[in-house]
Amino acid sequence: IPKVDFDRIRKDFTVLDQQVNGHPLVYLDNAASSQMPVSVADRLDAYHRNEHANVHRGIHTLSQKATDAFEMTRRKVQQFIGASSSDEIVFTTGTTDSLNLAANSYGMENLQKGDEIILSEMEHHANIVPWQMVAQKTGAVIRVIPVLDNGELDMQAYKELLGPRTKIVSVIHVSNALGTVNPVKEITALAHEHHAVVVIDGAQSVPHQPVDVQDIDCDFFTFSSHKMCGPTGFGILYGKKHLLDKMPPYRGGGDMIDKVSFEETTYNVVPFRFEAGTPPIAAGIGLGAAIDYLNEIGMEQIANREYELVDYAVSRLREIEGLQMIGESSNRASVCSFVFDDIHASDLGTILDKRGIAVRTGHHCAQPILRRFNVPATTRASVSFYNTTEDIDRLVDGIHYAKSFFE
Ligand code: PMP
Repeated sequence: IPKVDFDRIRKDFTVLDQQVNGHPLVYLDNAASSQMPVSVADRLDAYHRNEHANVHRGIHTLSQKATDAFEMTRRKVQQFIGASSSDEIVFTTGTTDSLNLAANSYGMENLQKGDEIILSEMEHHANIVPWQMVAQKTGAVIRVIPVLDNGELDMQAYKELLGPRTKIVSVIHVSNALGTVNPVKEITALAHEHHAVVVIDGAQSVPHQPVDVQDIDCDFFTFSSHKMCGPTGFGILYGKKHLLDKMPPYRGGGDMIDKVSFEETTYNVVPFRFEAGTPPIAAGIGLGAAIDYLNEIGMEQIANREYELVDYAVSRLREIEGLQMIGESSNRASVCSFVFDDIHASDLGTILDKRGIAVRTGHHCAQPILRRFNVPATTRASVSFYNTTEDIDRLVDGIHYAKSFFE
């Protein structure tokens, strides 16, 4: 495998080349949103300057060109995640939207009173609340896979939760709060033994490792463009074709119909049935450019590079007296979450920001797992392939400074 020059790659991210509060920016909030390389920003700019038109409906040349560029993203996504057909790629506005679509369309259609939905204790709120709302309407019951002290799923407990009433298992691939990489292939195989449908929240996995939905064999898979070098406002719901075909639309409007009259409306084919109204065209084309960019580096290379960075971060953070890691799994991607007994996360985050270091503090939209670890908030540093070991050193120096400040 040819060695990738990550120093050169870092230069593609012009946003990193700036001072924040008088210090060179250290960006370690990639789990919230990753940065965008120049090629993606240029692609957006070219679209807005020269190619903007509405898609799917236009007979004129500009509209057809916009449609071709936009639909090309569907094929790029299909290949990127190993789906068998581009019809299985539904465009949404993000992971949250994708999960709401799965819950409201598949869930509302297939759940009955007493049916069970299995989630895990480490879910993001986006993979809890939509299911709760659907459970309230259908009378379905939510069961929760507990998390072990090291931040991994209790797989034994999961096996015991599975049963004849299990209809849906919806779990996070990589935890945005702990960094744990979950065994989604095994989780899926076990669920399928009980004829349950599996939804995977891949918001934190797709940006960091190769993903093959056919290998995992999950039924639905969701992720967001803005965490994988693409623009905000765009996301994906992958669904197996035979399931999508049977699902009712979630939103009504233009583009998602076949024929409309006041007496009766028939719906468009999959995936367009789920894409009412004018989509975020520019963002979709931007995601296509982001996928090209990631493919050029190679997801294996990205995973290896980030593995080294995370490994370095974990070992350097562990040297700091009083620092307690939340989530100790050795199977970890991008995220290091930690707390101090005597320094509040938001104070630490503020002091780090004064030194140009961007981290996330708070509950990371995953309150149940923070409650599980008895902490109200953590400080979260999350790396991407364009980070460096110097970035980690700056973080560690910043934490030492904050500690001396509070002592
Ligand atoms: N799931 C996970 C694991 C996430 O990290 C996030 C983003 N924080 C989401 C879902 C929600 O993604 P979005 O805000 O892009 O809809």
